[in-house]
Amino acid sequence: MEKLEKQAIELLQMMCGSTGCVISDSGGKDSSVLKHITLKAHEIYGLPFSVRHNHTTVDAPETVYFVRDEKKKYESMGIKYEIHYPAQSMWQLIVAHKTPPTRLMRYCCADLKENTGMGEKLVTGVRKAESRNRKENQGAVTFTKPKRELLNKIKGNENFYINRQGGVVTLNLDNSETRRIVENCYRTNKTLINPLIDWQDDFLYWYIGKENIQLNPLYGCGWGRVGCIGCPMAGKNRWAEFERYPKYKEAYIRAFDKMLIEREKSGLKTMDIWATGKKVFKWWMEDENLDGQLAFDMGGNIYEEYL
Ligand code: SF4
Repeated sequence: MEKLEKQAIELLQMMCGSTGCVISDSGGKDSSVLKHITLKAHEIYGLPFSVRHNHTTVDAPETVYFVRDEKKKYESMGIKYEIHYPAQSMWQLIVAHKTPPTRLMRYCCADLKENTGMGEKLVTGVRKAESRNRKENQGAVTFTKPKRELLNKIKGNENFYINRQGGVVTLNLDNSETRRIVENCYRTNKTLINPLIDWQDDFLYWYIGKENIQLNPLYGCGWGRVGCIGCPMAGKNRWAEFERYPKYKEAYIRAFDKMLIEREKSGLKTMDIWATGKKVFKWWMEDENLDGQLAFDMGGNIYEEYL
């Protein structure tokens, strides 16, 4: 067994062997590896676990179908697999918040992806190699919204640190006191366990090939990242996403139109560059085309008219 694989399985067993855990499945490659590893821990140690997918309402259709297949597959093995539907869709959230989600205002994550897991040992496929933010703010165990009682417990304890977002990150899980604190606090705090935290991309892809792990078909279409269509964190990749899924673009524009009506009703000021839903979309996409500019397709027909 590979060293990193062994470490991940042992971490799962050490942290969740007696209590069980919930595996968070986003439909992406890291989640697929995580489920595979957890299944191994289940076979070796009898680790009890269930799987949960948070349906975001802006997932690619391929992800929705892949998750449904994964649900069937895990349920056929006797493992509970829940698809959690949010109270409000992305389109409703945009209207309710009266502003589009942005890199700095990711209210949708809180409502669509992070609204479950309180009081559970929630296991994620988060890896430090994915981003600087994750490198700085995540550890093998992270409490994302620590209560005061937990903050008091870790005061002066060198096995923990408080990250920039106010979460508590564990540094040393070989330490029995650290494990005891996790055991005492997970029911009242949001606790993430991240067994793949130190896996690099090269190793992850190599492991997927070696273990023949089935992935979301979007990876076979050249996608390196699978997530919400139009996620503001995806930067320029959003252009390719909306090219592939034009209905999502239309749905965002409709939501922005409704959002503008709500802003007006509430007496909120709206900039000129937000005069219509289409203009909000253009601003949101950081589209530098000038108003009035036209784009043509290969047949010479107007393909896009920038308003
Ligand atoms: S669109 Fe991006 S920021 Fe919003 S829920 Fe999805 S991943 Fe989070």
